[in-house]
Amino acid sequence: MEHVLKEYFGYEAFRPGQRALIQNALDGHATLGILPTGGGKSICYQIPGLMKSGLTLVISPLISLMKDQVDSLNASGIKAAYLNSTLKSSETKKIETGLLGGEFQFLYVAPERFNQKQFINLLYRLDISLIAFDEAHCISKWGHDFRPSYRESIQTVLTLPHHFTIMALTATATVDVKEDICELLHIASQYVIETSTKRENLKFLIDPTYQKQKRLIEYINEHIDDSGIIYANTRKQVESLSEVLNMEKINHVIYHAGLNKAVKEENQSVFVKDDIKVMIATNAFGMGIDKSNVRYVVHYNLPQDLESYYQEAGRAGRDSVESECLLMYSDQDIKLQQFFIETTQDESIQELKKEKLNKMIGYTKTKQCLQATIINYFNPNEHLTKCGKCSNCLQATENYNMTTEAKKILSCIVRIKTPVHKLMITKVLHGELDDAIKHADYDQLSTFGLLKNYDTSAIQSFIETLLFNGYIIEQNGRIYCHESARKILTGDQQIMTYYKNANYKERVKITTMDTTDELLLSTLKDVRKKLSENLSIPPFTIFSDHTLQLFATKKPVSKDEMILIDGVGSYKLKHYCPKFIEAIKNYSA
Ligand code: ADP
Repeated sequence: MEHVLKEYFGYEAFRPGQRALIQNALDGHATLGILPTGGGKSICYQIPGLMKSGLTLVISPLISLMKDQVDSLNASGIKAAYLNSTLKSSETKKIETGLLGGEFQFLYVAPERFNQKQFINLLYRLDISLIAFDEAHCISKWGHDFRPSYRESIQTVLTLPHHFTIMALTATATVDVKEDICELLHIASQYVIETSTKRENLKFLIDPTYQKQKRLIEYINEHIDDSGIIYANTRKQVESLSEVLNMEKINHVIYHAGLNKAVKEENQSVFVKDDIKVMIATNAFGMGIDKSNVRYVVHYNLPQDLESYYQEAGRAGRDSVESECLLMYSDQDIKLQQFFIETTQDESIQELKKEKLNKMIGYTKTKQCLQATIINYFNPNEHLTKCGKCSNCLQATENYNMTTEAKKILSCIVRIKTPVHKLMITKVLHGELDDAIKHADYDQLSTFGLLKNYDTSAIQSFIETLLFNGYIIEQNGRIYCHESARKILTGDQQIMTYYKNANYKERVKITTMDTTDELLLSTLKDVRKKLSENLSIPPFTIFSDHTLQLFATKKPVSKDEMILIDGVGSYKLKHYCPKFIEAIKNYSA
């Protein structure tokens, strides 16, 4: 299993859930995988597909995604094809002939194909060993994106005569949706693999500003080198935002159902190819987009439910690089969503939608961690932790009684006797052993390491509070206790503070790649762009932004060094790496 992962995809280790899903499929058990967007669902059916003999049939409701998926596989040296309504009949014929000749390992099709007798006849003549239902939430009535034709296709699939295994995959499944999928596809509960819906690299922000336009322009300008999607609720809103961006001379494209097909395709293509960085769109855009380097998703209006929101926002950062999801909203948006709901015919569906909208509104009002709120919505049993970086976590200043910590700090200062530098006090309390501390015998103090469970930034923040309140005096950079400190030490006086979540700084330190050579990175992006144009495939199918960042950090100059990098498999090593090695060598020279 591991060697297939490295050989074809260039990755060293499986992500959570992947191995178990692959093993289930190899053992012939129908299995359901609920993995977050960007969690690597495709590999879950691609690896068993490569390991089993016969064809893997991938059913996907997203016609526009098929080409990218197939391009991606071909770019890794895997034979794949798709059949959908966008192909000319001569192209369809060619693929059918190829299928009958056993030329392909993967075939992507839309559910509607199962209505065609000719297609079913073709399937009967093929050797199918695995059938993957991608975006499986669309088969459930309880899902936010129910496709009746997808549900109907199941009947036909299940009556196919082959000895095949079923795998269903989705990112967004509430408990009801999960149960529905299992029942329809006969998946036993022990073969449901669910990993956390959490996306570690996403930073969720809410901005209820009344000056949305101004804020949007500011935001785009702050991220002018990055790819981003702005979602608006209506076509009219998309058009009017486009005018605003034109006035600001911000290069962008738009996408909504009212545009003609050629324009939509062209706009999507320039965005995916990184020719234009900003896309303004309704929710008609995105379901079919497999662009991994989207750095931000802004919702200019309130979406109808958290499933839609998480799915759309989740289009940011599929390559695991830090990315942002900003939600702007106003009360007007709520009225518009309520209006949409009232146009729904079916009363029970109307109720369901109202309930979901209320949860969405709840998200905008909560003071809890935003990531945790979303996770809790999808899986009420998951243990929640604060993400430390969403707009709520960053603002989370709790009124905290720091008297115990204050006592420890003050006694430490008293024990040291002479005025001492703030940083030294912090180190002693944190329990750090260095030469200066050993030399002064501070490690022998009873207060040594008393606050070792705190971040140094938290300890410093406590010291600052004591200084601010006059319990400590600072002179020439050294601190000593004021008389009033006695009241705290004896317990006659309490002291409160606003205790900021200190995890934030620590996380930033880990996730920012400060050794990435930005100039080299942009050179490598140019190399990728040129290569992608020559090969007529999207840039990210060659290497993801994440892999390019690793190149720009580690600067590999030989194939032996390249193969060690995440995202470099044998095929890409042979076909694409020489160009990147050359660029890195030139750059270093
Ligand atoms: P999704 O779950 O949204 O369908 P994809 O299958 O498109 O996600 O995978 C997202 C990205 O993660 C792709 O670039 C893919 O190559 C990468 N990926 C998948 N599995 C792994 C892995 N085990 N290690 C590193 N990257 C991986």
